[in-house]
Amino acid sequence: MRPAAASKLLMQAGLEDTAHRRIILAAVADAEGPVTAGEVGAAVGVGEKLNKVTLYRNLELLVECGLVRRHSGPDRSYRYCRPSFAPPSVVHCHAYCASCGASRCVEAPKSWTEAVGLLDLSGFEIGKVDIRLEGLCPDCRAKR
Ligand SMILES: [Zn+2]
Ligand SMILES: [Zn+2]
Repeated sequence: MRPAAASKLLMQAGLEDTAHRRIILAAVADAEGPVTAGEVGAAVGVGEKLNKVTLYRNLELLVECGLVRRHSGPDRSYRYCRPSFAPPSVVHCHAYCASCGASRCVEAPKSWTEAVGLLDLSGFEIGKVDIRLEGLCPDCRAKR
C-alpha cells in the first residue's frame, strides 16, 4: 500500500494522518495473511522508528476505526489483517495450516453474511463473525 493510499484511508476514517499510522496500516495491508503485533513491529522497525507502546496504541486505533481487523489465532494471540478483498463483510474467515502454521484471509461467500442476518438472535445485531478454518495449505498438500 502506498503512503498516499494509507493517508486517504486514515482521513476517511476520521483519524489524524500520521507517519506512524501510515506505516503500520501499510504493513498490515501488505502482509500476505494475518500477522501478529510482533510481526507488524518487525516490518515497521519497532525500536528504531517507533516504540512498542506507539505500535500497540495505533494498532488498537486502526481496529476501532475498522481499517484493520483483529481476531485470535490458533495460539490465542491476536492477529491483525486488512484483506485485499474489500469492503470487509460481517463474516470473515481465516484459513490456518495445521502443519506449517501458514495463514490466509479467506473471503466468505456473500450468502454467509446474508445467513447471519437471518438468524434469530433475540434482538442482537451482529457486527462481526470470525470463522477459523484449519487444514493443510497448498505447499503442505503438495509435499504429501
Ligand atoms: Zn502448510
Ligand atoms: Zn483476515
